[in-house]
Amino acid sequence: MTTEHLPFAPPRHPVPESFIRPVCTECRKPLPELPAAPETVILIVTNRCNLRCPSCSYWRTPADRMREMTFEEYVPLLEELAHDGTRRIVMTGGEPTQRKDWKDLLLACSSSMQEVLLLTNGTGLDPDAVEALAATENVRIVISWDGWDLESFDKSVGRAGMYDRILGAAERLCSTAELDGRIGINITITPQNMEHLPDIATLMATIGVDFFHFHLVYSDDPSCCFTEEACRMMPGIMKATTDRLRTIGIETLIDHVPFAFIRNERCFIPFAHSTIGPYGDVFGCIPAKGGFMDIADNALGNLRSTPFSSIWNSADYMKFRSDAASGRHRNCIACLACHAARNFSAGPCRDCQDKPHIVPSTPEFY
Ligand code: SF4
Ligand code: SF4
Repeated sequence: MTTEHLPFAPPRHPVPESFIRPVCTECRKPLPELPAAPETVILIVTNRCNLRCPSCSYWRTPADRMREMTFEEYVPLLEELAHDGTRRIVMTGGEPTQRKDWKDLLLACSSSMQEVLLLTNGTGLDPDAVEALAATENVRIVISWDGWDLESFDKSVGRAGMYDRILGAAERLCSTAELDGRIGINITITPQNMEHLPDIATLMATIGVDFFHFHLVYSDDPSCCFTEEACRMMPGIMKATTDRLRTIGIETLIDHVPFAFIRNERCFIPFAHSTIGPYGDVFGCIPAKGGFMDIADNALGNLRSTPFSSIWNSADYMKFRSDAASGRHRNCIACLACHAARNFSAGPCRDCQDKPHIVPSTPEFY
């Protein structure tokens, strides 16, 4: 295999941009124009993390616990979002369970939203936490899992002894009857683990994980860059992974950011999502936030001085959307490649999201 970094320039679409309409990946109906509030808000409740994943930079960047938004600041924000039509909160970090009040915050999200996704590395999911999660009805829990055996897993999180601890947490969740159907796994596809994806998926399916989300590694570290040969292998690996899951009876591959994928060359994220950093900065997308850090200069406003709705409807946000729609942001090229990776995943409209079971309509990779 060569180590050459594959240039990933999205192809130009042959149809003029004004004719390209974002559509639901399920029913193919056009998605609505800008809603009064984002469908999904990604709450990054802390930049702190107790793991050291090599492909991540959160742990390399200083995080300021004292500047994090407080529970009392989140409550009115959640009320405003719920009032304006936001349906889903993705609560994540860093590692959200590093906050002492994470369970209170999760319950506040749960009681004000239709759906909550908790994205976690699993280290904080002790029996008390699982009991608290079981008492909710609309929280889904997604654990990150990137290794295929003990050695590769501990390497993937940069800390020894994590395989048993996190596998134990996943098993605890999966064996809790009240959480049936609500446990997912997020697998970050790297050049190192891509050939093992069917085995990783099988391990997780065997312990009872309900749904799977795959995401390309987000890093320009040379160890994370895919070679051309790797890219050629990827469709076959994804098909083998999907086939393996189907033989076990698992059909659900659900993206935790519906609407993310629309077309390879067009991004709809800032029309449907908003990302709020731990210090109250509002960003148009996670890459604009700076990925694993907060680039305050990229913020479209801060909740400590401006209500969310004013930021959402501001001229700066409009400009951000227009640049996103034509892929003009600095990170769009790399990011759009990731959207392509979600081609086999869901991107349902509001009507389709209400279906109890969404099966992706395009189960192929690319
Ligand atoms: S990838 Fe997640 S678990 Fe790993 S260091 Fe980054 S924030 Fe922590
Ligand atoms: S970097 Fe570009 S393509 Fe990626 S989410 Fe942001 S606007 Fe969309």
